[in-house]
This record gives sequence, C-alpha cells and structure tokens, in this order.
Amino acid sequence: MRLRNKPGAPAKIANYPQYVVDTPEKWQGRWKERFGNNNPIHIEVGTGKGRFVTEMAKLHPEINYIGIELQMSVVVVALDKLIAEDLPNLQLLHVNGGALTQYFAKGEVSQVYLNFSDPWPKTKHEKRRLMYHDFLVGYEEILIPQGEIHFKTDNQGLFEYSLHSFSKYGMLIEKVWLNLHESDFEGNVMTEYEEKFSNRGQRIYRVVASFPKK
Ligand code: SAM
Repeated sequence: MRLRNKPGAPAKIANYPQYVVDTPEKWQGRWKERFGNNNPIHIEVGTGKGRFVTEMAKLHPEINYIGIELQMSVVVVALDKLIAEDLPNLQLLHVNGGALTQYFAKGEVSQVYLNFSDPWPKTKHEKRRLMYHDFLVGYEEILIPQGEIHFKTDNQGLFEYSLHSFSKYGMLIEKVWLNLHESDFEGNVMTEYEEKFSNRGQRIYRVVASFPKK
C-alpha cells in the first residue's frame, strides 16, 4: 500500500500521543501499564489503514490491540479511525515490524496478526516478507510460549511461502483455510485489502501457526 506523502501527517501524529505511541521503546515490558490492565495483547504487523484492528478492538474489549505500520501516510488514516472510535484498547505504532524486540519484552504479546502482507515476489526481496525467518525470530521472542501467528492473504505464492517458512522454522501449522470466505470460519473481520480482493473474486487463504514450547 502506497499513499502519497501527506504534508500534515507528522504534526497530526504528534498531536495524538495517546493513540500513536511516540517513544515505543519506553514501553517495552510496560504495555500493561500503558493500557491500564492485564489483558492479553494482540498485534497486527502491517496494519495499513487500520480497519481490522479497529473492528477487532470494538468487538473484543477484553483484548488490547496494537496496530504496527511502517508508512506514516497510512498511519494517519488508521489514526482517523481511532480518533472517531476513541477505543481504550487500541494503540498504533509507527515502526518497522522487523524491530519488534526493541518495543516488546519477551512473552509480552499473545498473538500476531499478518493480514495481506506485501508479497515482495522477487527472490532478492525475500527478506522483506513479514514471514521471512528473521521476522519469525522477532515474533517468537515477544510472543508467549505457544503463541500464534494468524495470517491471511489473497496471494497464493505468498501463502505457500508462509507455510514453507513456518515449517522450516519448526513452527506447527495449526489450521489452514484454502478458501476462507467459503468455509465455516465464524467471526471473520475483513481488512481493507480483503474487501478489495474478494470483491474481485479472489480466494482468501488463511493459516494459523504456533511456535512450539521450548
Ligand atoms: N493489513 C492491511 C490490509 O489487509 O488492508 C494492509 C495491507 S498492505 C498490502 C501491507 C501494509 O504493510 C502496508 O501498509 C505496508 O506499509 C505495511 N508494511 C510492510 N512492511 C512492513 C514492516 N516491515 N513493518 C510495518 N509495516 C509494514
């Protein structure tokens, strides 16, 4: 997802430090304090315009959500949704999902969502894929033992790559959906990309994979 640079974006983000965390490293190991409760923390890496995390936070007040997004021009779109909904259990982080161990302590996160991650189809860009080995190292460190990754995509190639990468890493593939919207899966919350691709007739794949207890 590429949005044009928005000139007002940095100022807007700076105006809402209660929603877009300005010094995330400061909260490493202290996210429960920031949310003001002991509820589990679920993160979405590559949250885009934020529809998924916003809807999930509305549906599940007993879970704390953190949407993580690299592009500032996209973070401000997610921020608008959060301002409108004023959800106490949702925060946004404008950081690289490849550096999560700087912002979360070991076992601080209960679940990782990856939704319609950029496919980076060229082999030379493999390291940018959010399910590449080095990202898995980071997720494993910040997740609770047996913590899960929930990934969905319309991209068959990236889906197959994720199964391969998860297995190669020693993760357990818990469940796979080869056609999510035609399955008995209940409670699916659509993302912006999911709506766009499913409206075009694209099939949606989903996988849940866990890190085995060490
Ligand atoms: N999850 C949203 C959805 O399903 O509508 C957005 C999908 S969009 C294709 C992928 C998003 O991931 C983009 O907004 C991109 O900036 C973000 N992204 C890519 N690599 C990232 C990284 N290393 N850390 C954080 N965000 C990343």
